[in-house]
Amino acid sequence: MVYGVREEILKIEKYVAGKSITEVKRELGLDNIVKMASNENPLGCSKKVKDALKALVKDTYLYPDSASYELKNLLGNKLNVKSKQIFCGAGSDSLIRVICNTLLDKDDESIVADITFPRYETNINLMGAKCIKIPVKNFIFNLEEMVNAITKKTKIIWFCNPNNPTGTIFTKYELKKVLDKIPKNVFVVIDEAYVEYVTDENYPDSLSLLKKYSNIIILRTFSKAYGLAALRIGYGIANEELVEYFNRVINSFDTNLYAQVAAIEAIKDEDFLSLVKQFNEEQRNFMYKEFDKLGLSYIKSQANFIMVKVNCDDKDLFNYLLKRGYIIRPGYLLGVPGYLRISIGKENENRQLVNLIKEYLKK
Ligand SMILES: *Cc1c(COP(=O)(O)O)cnc(C)c1O
Repeated sequence: MVYGVREEILKIEKYVAGKSITEVKRELGLDNIVKMASNENPLGCSKKVKDALKALVKDTYLYPDSASYELKNLLGNKLNVKSKQIFCGAGSDSLIRVICNTLLDKDDESIVADITFPRYETNINLMGAKCIKIPVKNFIFNLEEMVNAITKKTKIIWFCNPNNPTGTIFTKYELKKVLDKIPKNVFVVIDEAYVEYVTDENYPDSLSLLKKYSNIIILRTFSKAYGLAALRIGYGIANEELVEYFNRVINSFDTNLYAQVAAIEAIKDEDFLSLVKQFNEEQRNFMYKEFDKLGLSYIKSQANFIMVKVNCDDKDLFNYLLKRGYIIRPGYLLGVPGYLRISIGKENENRQLVNLIKEYLKK
């Protein structure tokens, strides 16, 4: 134990991120590595973004606009909310921390699902608040049970929709049923990191709920469908007053020049986003068909990753795939042993990965 480290920090578990390509190359001496572990966009990002980034190199010595004025304006128009309702940060990861920093006191309670994005729990613990975990039901959020867990001490409830790592959604009907039961002094964070990929028409239009429910905070990111993970930029939408306080907590220059400009260009290139959505849906269906052929069951996904049940030691299969240059996310790290979470890759990568899984299972 190191002297001086806060008790809350000692309790936080180390986050095991998906292995990086350079890490695997170094460790295994392989040249060709395919990463299908962190839900990145296999199509990369828009060419218009890349061109705009090149033109910025000369401005690298300048501080960025700390208010992300242009980006917020553009987002406000696109989403039909006031730009003052938008807050930006270095990925939604950064904004999850900002929300916790702003709202959570020691000994407050905060409710999450037991299989969900782990960063909520980490940041709840960081504040010395208590994380209450409610089991998912058939891999779907049990909204009623989550809301039933609200006590006088509850401050924030976290809904991830589509949920990572299950890829499942809760519907507008399920959400509507519980919203009125949530006291106004409990904040509802709806993390929509994968919103662009959703095809289910029963997916809630969370933006339309902001007017009636001032306790809703929506989180979105440019890391996934827009393909800007390396630049670190995400945003949130909430009521204006609350956003003003979030802005006091966010680091002055959390979103850098490159990230702001890239996000603006990415929003403008609607054709690229359509292509991404179409490609994802096609490949998602391709994977389903292949898993069917192998007799493997899977969780139907509304995102760009799929959880497949492999009926074997997922850690061993993970290592088998890794040695052959394929990085995926084994279920045991996500609280779902016996499963793999596979981020959808390029067409040939998906095909090859399925072949490798088939090869492994035959042995
Ligand atoms: C990837 C992800 C994020 C974080 O994305 P950033 O890169 O930090 O914007 C947030 N929430 C969920 C559910 C995610 O899967």
